[in-house]
Amino acid sequence: MQKGNIGVTTENIFPVIKKFLYSDHEIFLREIISNAVDATQKMKTLQSQGEFTDDLGDLTIRVSLDAKKKTLTVSDRGIGMTAEEIDKYINQIAFSGATDFLEKFKDNANAIIGHFGLGFYSAFMVSKKVEIISLSYKAGSKAVKWTCDGTPEYKMEECKKADRGTDIVMHIDDECKEYLEKYKIEQLLKKYCRFLPVSIAFGKKTEWKDGKEVETDEDNIINDTDPIWRRKPADLKDEDYQKFYRALYPGYEEPLFWIHLNVDYPFNLTGVLFFPKIKNDLDLRRNKIQLYCNQVFVTDSVENIVPDFLTLLHGVIDSPDIPLNVSRSYLQSDANVKKISKYITKKVSDRLESIFKEDRKAYEQKWDDLKLFIHYGLLSEPDFWEKGSKVTLLKDTDGKYFTLDEYKTLIRDNQTDKNKTLVYLYATDATQQYTYIQNAKEKGYSVLLMDGQLDIPLVGMLESKLGDGDKERVRFSRVDSDTVSRLIPKEEDAQEVLDADESANLSSSFKSQIPKIDKAEFMVEVQPLGADEAPAVITQSEYMRRMKEMSKLQSGMSFYGEMPDMYTLILNSDHPAVSKLNAELKTQTAEAIKPIEAELKGLRARQAALRDEQSKEGDKLPEQQKKDLEQTNADIKAQEDKKETVLADFAKGQDKVRHLIDLALLQNGMLRGEALNNFVRRSVQML
Ligand code: ADP
Repeated sequence: MQKGNIGVTTENIFPVIKKFLYSDHEIFLREIISNAVDATQKMKTLQSQGEFTDDLGDLTIRVSLDAKKKTLTVSDRGIGMTAEEIDKYINQIAFSGATDFLEKFKDNANAIIGHFGLGFYSAFMVSKKVEIISLSYKAGSKAVKWTCDGTPEYKMEECKKADRGTDIVMHIDDECKEYLEKYKIEQLLKKYCRFLPVSIAFGKKTEWKDGKEVETDEDNIINDTDPIWRRKPADLKDEDYQKFYRALYPGYEEPLFWIHLNVDYPFNLTGVLFFPKIKNDLDLRRNKIQLYCNQVFVTDSVENIVPDFLTLLHGVIDSPDIPLNVSRSYLQSDANVKKISKYITKKVSDRLESIFKEDRKAYEQKWDDLKLFIHYGLLSEPDFWEKGSKVTLLKDTDGKYFTLDEYKTLIRDNQTDKNKTLVYLYATDATQQYTYIQNAKEKGYSVLLMDGQLDIPLVGMLESKLGDGDKERVRFSRVDSDTVSRLIPKEEDAQEVLDADESANLSSSFKSQIPKIDKAEFMVEVQPLGADEAPAVITQSEYMRRMKEMSKLQSGMSFYGEMPDMYTLILNSDHPAVSKLNAELKTQTAEAIKPIEAELKGLRARQAALRDEQSKEGDKLPEQQKKDLEQTNADIKAQEDKKETVLADFAKGQDKVRHLIDLALLQNGMLRGEALNNFVRRSVQML
């Protein structure tokens, strides 16, 4: 029997393993089984090279639990190890410069294990004692048993073993009892070993007999040794991809489509990516792309390896060329990883393009589900624009789809305003903005439907990308952001019918009757919109609305988020109802307003003179005059209030004023509660 110390040069390895690898405990099983897979693969290679001529026998790797002995055992029928090999591969661990490295990568067990080739030793994360019982394939080898109880001391002795291969017997630590539970091991096997290339059996299949679960003779194989991403696309049918997807992401709808990745130069990468059908935001976060290294599961956080927008996809990437033994932040600067990321983006773009070209109808049908990914790609990945913009569609409110180029041609003639700006009209809610959409369509305009999660930020991007410098500018306006004639101003504005004072009086009398609406503020304007247009419409400024919408998506813009919504009620001075009200307002309030106006005229002249002086003198303005100015300001305010009261009193007596306001609110879905009730009653009375 041989006794000795494991060749750790600077530090005792066991406390390190337990301490530093704590968070990733569970990967021990992956490491032990990976070694078993390697040993099995080597056996197959030896046979194929003619160096081993016997029958290989059953190569299944067996994982078994012994509750009494409190052991978890992994047995393979691979090449096995001789005593010399155990000495060389297990006992002598090069371990220099360890302290620094461990400190640096203490959160990354993959890095530590990869760096030191510590795969086997990870068994000590969960075991108080580990035994290796091994018989080499080499003719005349003797079986050997190595034992170590977590101190640098090991024991090695000859033993009996019938079959070629290795058993790793882990005596599970009392603190890690969970690894003696069947369900826990099942869970780990499913997570890490699901696609390993050698069959792995965990106990026997069970069946229900007389109300009891009993074991059958059949091995319970937990893995698929030949996953689709390793196979040739030509050998696969749609059903194969769909079946694979369903197994990997149960509960999801069929994917929109998939992309089979397959490169071997200048790096090696295989995989299948699926565009999922996303129902809600939760779906987005729940499942991710899985990263494998030669069919061994590594992680499902692939940030830094694939471009951000593609992390929303589902599927598998398998590459031995992604360095796993480095920190996450290092990955970003790794040349191979950059190449891989570029390759994936290109592959995805090419595939999108070919699907689009091959069958545009089918692409259009998928567009509504697909656009989230494309929009996200356009917004987050500068390189994606060139290809991504070619497969970006715009959908109009009639459900027709256009490419960006097609749409530009479509609207160029009719929707260019007098400043040579091409105006893209859009609606975010086809029901709520129905009237505005109709009005625009009657003018021969096309209206886009932009109701996706990322449409608003995309609008900003399209404005800057679709234009052509000063030659052709592009502007997006929501259909309700102005009256239809002003959405795309063509020639000089129509003549004002009312003079400024008249407009102001009419506006303020209407303003006094607008019901209070939470978080909404109104201005009132008078515009000649044409006799055929509605008497009153409500618009919402494109700029303010977009700022508010953007603020919901970004932090640091909450200032805009807290502002009330700003609306404008536009009264159509060309409409008979409005002009009639205006005439009545004039005659009925003239008497009361005349003296107020006269008073105001004098006060304003005085205010102007005093202000003029103040701007010259600054703080040196005599006290008396300062007071005078304050008084004048107060007097003006008082007269204005008085005038407003007169105008409001007029409006109060006019059901038509409130009716016009209510109709405009109703058209925007803003008439609710008491105001709606009042409107209904008033309407009934009119009958
Ligand atoms: P790595 O696998 O990264 O080389 P490990 O510590 O996991 O590091 O294993 C060290 C070596 O021990 C392996 O390279 C292999 O030669 C040998 N070994 C480990 N497990 C087995 C096994 N089940 N069968 C045969 N050889 C093994």
